[in-house]
Amino acid sequence: MTRPHIAVLGSTNMDLVAYVAKAPQRGETVTGREFRTLPGGKGANQAVAAARAGATVAMIGAVGNDAFGTQLRSALDHSGVDTDLLRTVEGPSGTAHIVVDDDGGNAIVVIPGANATLTALSAGDRAEIASAAALLLQLEVPLEGVLAAARTAREHGVRTILTPAPAQPLPPELLAATDLLLPNEHEAAALTGITDPAAAARALLSQVPEVVVTLGAAGSLYAARGAEPVTVPARRVTAVDTTGAGDTFAGALAVALCKGNSVPDALSWASAASALSVQRTGAATSMPYRAEIDAEAG
Ligand code: ATP
Repeated sequence: MTRPHIAVLGSTNMDLVAYVAKAPQRGETVTGREFRTLPGGKGANQAVAAARAGATVAMIGAVGNDAFGTQLRSALDHSGVDTDLLRTVEGPSGTAHIVVDDDGGNAIVVIPGANATLTALSAGDRAEIASAAALLLQLEVPLEGVLAAARTAREHGVRTILTPAPAQPLPPELLAATDLLLPNEHEAAALTGITDPAAAARALLSQVPEVVVTLGAAGSLYAARGAEPVTVPARRVTAVDTTGAGDTFAGALAVALCKGNSVPDALSWASAASALSVQRTGAATSMPYRAEIDAEAG
């Protein structure tokens, strides 16, 4: 089967993770156990997820001209993601400073760095989006850039899937150019003020034609205009690290939809992909390849 072509516009961050027994309080210094640098950012994570799930993927984004920038680019290259449209700009790359404690709780500071420069599209970016079967968007880069990409996709009839994370009020123009909105349950509640995911999804249908709310271990919920919501269960697995589960789900969902699968089939395949990812540590490092997903999906 041919590989669908997917464009991703979004963030590329280096995750700087400190593992400690107990996170420090203000003014306190603690000695941690371990430190890791892990390539991340929701844009880059979704790009890797889609590439591993079987798409050809182009990443539109920006890294800094620092050592992290070089490492982030080569991590994407290594995953088979096309980085021709990943700019290198003056200044630091995006970083996420993460403290993980022994209870699995975390505290995170994100510094956008180069991601903040992604406010407009180049002619090359527009041509790339126009040629794609789907465009994946998230909100870790400026809204101007996200909106320009969504509008370009709409002009060319390219299916746009938006993960509204981090949660924030969305301009109506962005929702109007979105085909499928993919919040987790917390983002769905933040966008609507409604805590029940099915009711939140129904409310969002006044602004977008299709909504998928991911519900962690409870699976996902699909709603479309004129139809009753459908819930797809998650696989029963022992999760060791759910970081990046949502991005794995987004990448796999996009690939399955681009291959012409029905939404329920695509959701089931995406939940197989994310079930595999939660059984392994890391975000991008935990993402499964197409053959593994096919085997898990059965
Ligand atoms: P993250 O922010 O950690 O990337 P998220 O909050 O965006 O994740 P979730 O709703 O937690 O996304 O998870 C996405 C999908 O991953 C779920 O719809 C489900 O299919 C799968 N998943 C998540 N957690 C588990 C789990 N414990 N067991 C099985 N599948 C899971």
